[in-house]
Amino acid sequence: DRPPRFHRKFTELSDGDGSTSSPIRVMQWNILAQALGEGLDSFVQCPMEAISWSRRKYLILEEILTYRPHILCLQEVDHYYDTFQPILAGLGYSSNFCPKPWSPCLGVEGNNGPDGCALFYDQSRFEFLDSMNMRLSAMRIPTNQVAVVTMLRCRSTGRCLCVAVTHLKARSGWEWFRSAQGSDLLRNLQNLVQKHPTGLTGDPGATYIPLLICGDFNAIPTEEVYQRFAGSPLGLESAYKKLSQDGLTEPEYTTWKIRPTGECCSTLDYIWYSQDSLRVDAVLHMPTEEQIGPNRLPSFSYPSDHLSLVCDLSFKENE
Ligand code: NDP
Ligand code: CA
Repeated sequence: DRPPRFHRKFTELSDGDGSTSSPIRVMQWNILAQALGEGLDSFVQCPMEAISWSRRKYLILEEILTYRPHILCLQEVDHYYDTFQPILAGLGYSSNFCPKPWSPCLGVEGNNGPDGCALFYDQSRFEFLDSMNMRLSAMRIPTNQVAVVTMLRCRSTGRCLCVAVTHLKARSGWEWFRSAQGSDLLRNLQNLVQKHPTGLTGDPGATYIPLLICGDFNAIPTEEVYQRFAGSPLGLESAYKKLSQDGLTEPEYTTWKIRPTGECCSTLDYIWYSQDSLRVDAVLHMPTEEQIGPNRLPSFSYPSDHLSLVCDLSFKENE
């Protein structure tokens, strides 16, 4: 017996186009590393039973299987080899995993190895082209944060898609560091998605491979790293802004937890996409404060302190 799952609805965004044959469903989610949840996070209002792996693993899988994303981007994965890789492979997903070089999980007794970022894609929807694991730098110095970048080809449209998943440095006081890590990631992605020049004109217009960047940026929308992504020459837009009335505002929260230091309710997670080549067809609502409940997250109803972000994207008919 346990409380019901959150019931969340999609907002459909009909841009009057109507040509949404079969959109690409994307999920971004920091699933909370088991070792961090048990050993370091101190979610004071969450009973330890709710954090046990035997409960949480089913809730995490249930959340993924409820939405069945074609692309699944996860952070704080410390059960890749023994759980997510084999189970999701059985469901038709291929994947790549990049552990953090010095994961804080390793300091927790009884840990299951380092946590890291994992990128899963539905093999029936996408053909694999290439993948790389990146260690992010800040001012040219390698850091403890990573990204997985996978190049895919959509089997139904033949279009290429470059997908990145990352988890930037946490905590306040590190805003400059996140900004430097974000700049490093953007620089690397720009080199990857810039197609080889087709002629001598050197015209960079519309020559980028469509890009999708999912992550726990550990940064609120006013932070420098967010502004760098929003203003980058890659033409990125944040999918969850589409949920708001004016289409310009991020949700009020993507994480909500209570630590000994107090309550933390903030927007830190994003799905960025190339607005030249991709369109958002639908966005999954965040659960309400009432659904989340007074003890916040994680809980017996929901296995992570971060909420999943899910949206449907389509290629625009250009080029
Ligand atoms: P980060 O600062 O990026 O944070 C690591 C994790 O801690 C994140 O997943 C983050 O979650 C979570 N976190 C954020 N705020 C808090 C908080 N207030 N309380 C508890 N957890 C929090 O760490 P780094 O990757 O830069 O790793 C450095 C840290 O790891 C250092 O504290 C270091 O001492 C420790 N470490 C210890 C090792 C050991 O063997 N003892 C080995 C390696 C590292 P979210 O992103 O969801 O906010
Ligand atoms: Ca965390």
